[in-house]
Amino acid sequence: MRNDMRALVKDRPAPGLAFSAQPVPEIGPDDVLIRIHKTGICGTDIHIWNWDEWAERTVPVPLITGHEFAGEIVEIGRNVTELELGQRVSGEGHLIGHSSRQSRAGKFHLDPETRGIGVNEPGAFADYLRLPAFNVVPLPDAVSDDIGAILDPLGNAVHTALSFDLIGEDVLITGAGPIGIMAAAVARHVGARHVVITDVNEDRLKLAADVTDLRPVNVSREDLNDVVAELGMAQGFDVGLEMSGNQRALDQMVEALVMGGRIALLGIPPGKSPVDWSRIVFKAITIKGVYGREIFETWYKMIAMLENGLDVSRVITHRFPVADYAEAFEIMASGKSGKIVLDWRD
Ligand code: NAD
Ligand code: ZN
Repeated sequence: MRNDMRALVKDRPAPGLAFSAQPVPEIGPDDVLIRIHKTGICGTDIHIWNWDEWAERTVPVPLITGHEFAGEIVEIGRNVTELELGQRVSGEGHLIGHSSRQSRAGKFHLDPETRGIGVNEPGAFADYLRLPAFNVVPLPDAVSDDIGAILDPLGNAVHTALSFDLIGEDVLITGAGPIGIMAAAVARHVGARHVVITDVNEDRLKLAADVTDLRPVNVSREDLNDVVAELGMAQGFDVGLEMSGNQRALDQMVEALVMGGRIALLGIPPGKSPVDWSRIVFKAITIKGVYGREIFETWYKMIAMLENGLDVSRVITHRFPVADYAEAFEIMASGKSGKIVLDWRD
């Protein structure tokens, strides 16, 4: 019998998270129990901490938060045959149904019944996580627990970046948050020609240039047209990856794209935002909305790329023992960090 475990819980409808003792989850026949080693703090977790309008509408109280994790399997349900005790794993935090048309067609990431761990269901900010075996992704030795703990946002970056062919293309990424920066590393890895990333936060742009080979542009000081000329692009960017959720960034992207350019939109605007649709029509631009990760094709590709030289390790700027979670959340909320990883093994 295991005793209670530690967990970071949204325990009341107000800002903050509380460290509290919770029962270790009981697993069903198709689940595994994962001892959490490391977790990543996501922008979503900051929304939940702040208890903004979205969080209030979405998150039940009380709830164990967190969805970015790496750990080790310590218990296996009786129907599970493909996994082993002691195996190092991460996993898909979107719990999907199996009866929708999309799921039955194998397009699990498009299942309308999707529920998220740490958002709608008990999450990974805890010593132990129950997860359906279906969602588990084993980690090869080449992928450390630190990187394992950020595969969820790396997966967002990979899913977005691989939405369009980037080989030999000029790529504009708006928003140098952790996901934009990792998308830039992916674009570079798969063979884009020029990779330009924009932001208004100088720290983030510095971090981006430290993580991968790209041209950072602070759009509050520099004109993107000058950069297009400097890099010798005849017309503009071929592909845009919108990763800021900022309406001005999308406007700027549409302007900076070639005729027939393609845009993948991951960034989430705070509400309805005005868009110059006629400009998009006359430029014959294709726009694709991107949600989550392709289950499990994105996982396969990102692990294969990590095994083959994709290096996003410098996007992790801070590591804390979980006891210092309040400080970690404060730094994450300040925008003066990349990814922050919490260690649960003390
Ligand atoms: P983040 O908030 O850390 O990064 C966004 C960056 O955009 C910030 O550095 C900010 O300074 C920058 N920015 C603000 N205004 C800008 C402008 N005018 N031009 C260029 N950059 C500007 O976010 P993140 O964690 O990296 O995530 C990126 C986006 O993706 C967020 O909008 C997030 O909500 C969204 N997201 C979507 C999914 C999905 O499944 N669709 C999943 C995860 C995250
Ligand atoms: Zn996340």
